[in-house]
Amino acid sequence: MSADLLQALRAAVGPAQVLTHEDPAADLSAWENDWRKRAQGRALAVVRPGSTAEVAAVVRACAQAGAAIVPQGGNTGLVVGSVPDDSGTQVVLSLTRMNAVRAIDGANLTMTVEAGCVLQSLQDAAENAGFLFPLSLAAEGSCTIGGNLATNAGGTQVVRYGNARELCLGLEVVTAQGEVWHGLTGLRKDNTGYDLRDLFIGSEGTLGVITAATLKLYPLPAAQLTAWAAVPTLDAAVALLGLAHQHLGAGLTGFEVMGQFALGLVDKHFPALRVPLWADSPYCVLLENSDSESEEHARGQFERLLETAFEQGLVSDAVVAESLSQARGLWHIRESIPLAQAEEGLNIKHDISIPVSRIPAFCAETDALLQREIPGVRLVNFGHLGDGNLHYNVQAPADGDAKKFLNEQETRVNTLVFDAVARYDGSISAEHGVGSLKAAHLPHYKDPVALGLMRAIKQALDPHHLMNPGRVLTHP
Ligand SMILES: Cc1cc2nc3c(=O)[nH]c(=O)nc-3n(C[C@H](O)[C@H](O)[C@H](O)COP(=O)(O)OP(=O)(O)OC[C@H]3O[C@@H](n4cnc5c(N)ncnc54)[C@H](O)[C@@H]3O)c2cc1C
Repeated sequence: MSADLLQALRAAVGPAQVLTHEDPAADLSAWENDWRKRAQGRALAVVRPGSTAEVAAVVRACAQAGAAIVPQGGNTGLVVGSVPDDSGTQVVLSLTRMNAVRAIDGANLTMTVEAGCVLQSLQDAAENAGFLFPLSLAAEGSCTIGGNLATNAGGTQVVRYGNARELCLGLEVVTAQGEVWHGLTGLRKDNTGYDLRDLFIGSEGTLGVITAATLKLYPLPAAQLTAWAAVPTLDAAVALLGLAHQHLGAGLTGFEVMGQFALGLVDKHFPALRVPLWADSPYCVLLENSDSESEEHARGQFERLLETAFEQGLVSDAVVAESLSQARGLWHIRESIPLAQAEEGLNIKHDISIPVSRIPAFCAETDALLQREIPGVRLVNFGHLGDGNLHYNVQAPADGDAKKFLNEQETRVNTLVFDAVARYDGSISAEHGVGSLKAAHLPHYKDPVALGLMRAIKQALDPHHLMNPGRVLTHP
């Protein structure tokens, strides 16, 4: 059966675009291992189609053979969703050869692109045409727009522009049966029934393959300023967010929070980055103000905001970047936290969201709970506070064995954190998705009616469970 399938796949995309272990020289590890090194799979084949018609032919061949498909973009996902299992029977469908910008419509403020476009290349294409495509995340040099949409990625600009979902007007999708849904509309209004676009966005490759998208563009800001502020408490950080909304309005394009221990790790492992203001403050905040008028206007707004914040005791010290390179330096510190954490050793990651107003109480309660249950445990708390999204990560005690800690404590720590998230009406996955890592947790924390509807949708669209099986929903 697998020989027939391989033959059909080669006929669909050409022999050079079907990589298998039959070739002893082929190294498939880049497609088989996930970014966090949490899973090492073995594929029957990695198939690299170059067009929508080829994707459809691959899906039809797999459907006929009963072979499971794992769609893959940049393979930067953090929940083990884009790599095959270790059975040697699954087909990895890599979209990276489909990387054309099909059209830019300046008057409609849209851009139509193929799924394999690397995010950064889309930001550049938009900028070269005089526009902003605002989706931005630390993996933007390697993640693809198909992966961004399949995971409904968030990132650092959500507070102003929303998640990937809010930036997408239309999709082209190959269904689990190998049909093509031509949904590349650039319409901002279209109330003609169920929203299929929103069904495929965030479905993590479990319902179909996204092959292209029509995305929203925005005017480029005239100026973008970044400030770094030390805040005395998490309550003060939340109050500062409210003040920033009031003072900056739609200009507030970034609001990140970083705990002292997280910044201490950056200082320890990357001292050349010169982390400001962290040593005497439990939290620091990174704010970005994008202004449509001028840099002078943006600076004036920032100064008034910070003055008021000082007066109200919400900020103890602050710096405003004087140049673009200083601003990039501040963002680089924020984006280096995950790497500094990896340097410190294996850890247990959480990507949670809580209503912003309840974040201080959640952290106070959960920090104390974890300290009580596992004395000496270290909390690397940082994230997109403007969206209520924390990367609430748990590191082994300083003198502990990190690997042993992960093996012995992961389930317990996850349960403690996720139960606390549920008590605070939050979500166990804010922006990374469910993948395989959280699929088993979902039934405990998702509303049972919602879960039933999700299973019904999966059954209707992919009745043979061949699209990325075991991801999001465990097999019924
Ligand atoms: C350093 C770092 C920082 C990150 N920061 C953020 C962040 O701030 N915010 C955030 O949201 N995420 C973040 N991520 C996670 C990750 O980058 C995103 O989830 C990204 O959207 C994944 O894109 P990708 O192309 O790499 O997808 P992949 O990892 O290849 O795939 C992810 C999922 O999407 C599916 N998929 C991929 N392409 C398609 C397609 N064309 N059609 C259907 N399904 C598809 C896969 O099957 C898989 O389930 C970060 C990751 C890293 C490594």
